[in-house]
Amino acid sequence: MSQVWNFSAGPAALPREVLERAQRELLDWDGSGMSVMEQSHRGKRFIAMAARTEAELRELAAIPDDYAVLFLQGGATQHFAQIPMNLAGEGAGADYIVNGHWGAKAASEAAPYVKVNVAADSKADDYRRLPPREQWKLDPRAAYVHYTPNETIHGVQYHDVPDVGEVPLVADMSSDILSAPLDVRRFGLIYAGAQKNIGPSGLVLMIVRRDLLARATRPMAKIFRYAEHAANDSMLNTPNTWGWYLAGLTIQWLQAQGGLAAMAARNRTKAERLYAAIDGSGGYYRNPVDPAARSRMNVPFTLHDSALDAPFLAEAEAAGLIALKGHKALGGMRASLYNAVPPEAVDALVAFMRDFATRHG
Ligand SMILES: *Cc1c(COP(=O)(O)O)cnc(C)c1O
Repeated sequence: MSQVWNFSAGPAALPREVLERAQRELLDWDGSGMSVMEQSHRGKRFIAMAARTEAELRELAAIPDDYAVLFLQGGATQHFAQIPMNLAGEGAGADYIVNGHWGAKAASEAAPYVKVNVAADSKADDYRRLPPREQWKLDPRAAYVHYTPNETIHGVQYHDVPDVGEVPLVADMSSDILSAPLDVRRFGLIYAGAQKNIGPSGLVLMIVRRDLLARATRPMAKIFRYAEHAANDSMLNTPNTWGWYLAGLTIQWLQAQGGLAAMAARNRTKAERLYAAIDGSGGYYRNPVDPAARSRMNVPFTLHDSALDAPFLAEAEAAGLIALKGHKALGGMRASLYNAVPPEAVDALVAFMRDFATRHG
């Protein structure tokens, strides 16, 4: 198979240009005669690349100087636990907004380290709607408010940043980071596993207001302490050098595409095309999410008859449309439309869906 369109939820598609450049540079990176993976993270070349990547990310996402940028490991999941260790003092509470699978997991993983207050939960609506901001039961003394702007499995997304006053807002942006312009000042901490919108798995990007780093007062090993990572330029121990490098190429690619405003416009158009095809199918395909809360990154949909799921997936794959099977929690299909999924991929999917509906009646 020569060219496929990859709709995987994660690890997900990377920009083709990024992969081609990595391929060209694989055996001789930056004139070193070796790959980037084979050299010291303390070496001149790597340090220069790391610093350049941070600077280019700061420019791309307009990250102010009073925020640290960290390149960490452990996946978003490890930081579900590490964030309360760092941001909440002994005995403190934190508010969690649960609008899907990942928010629920973030709350349960935080529970050993902070008194978790689930301030809003849309489980009763099967996570098809977002809990309205006016119904959130926030505690003004909370150490922070945690939410998940885009829920990858349920396909719901906040299109505006909620106002939580003075309490630091913590966002798990694993599946929507860098998909649109970011108003960093609205957040205390942003974190994301890289494998959806930034690069390969095994890298976590974190943007954290520097004053919050001083909050980690409980006893813990240095490796868990974000302040130590910040003080050591994310090289407290050996970082994911390959992931850092690929993230750097992706950031350059995003800038070359016109930056985050251009990505937002492109992502909106892609999502609108797919939702229009679903909504215009006369019930053949359905997306259950409240239209105001529909994700531009992850589009779950079902066929009118689940007996057609298997043929749909098999024929899609034969047509080069890969990884459309929905998450097992929801069944059906899911198309993930991250930054690296080009508009042509969505056009091919929409054409396939129309054709499938015609042929299978
Ligand atoms: C994929 C995902 C995670 C899990 O990330 P890991 O890197 O596997 O720990 C967490 N949150 C969201 C929103 C995700 O999409």
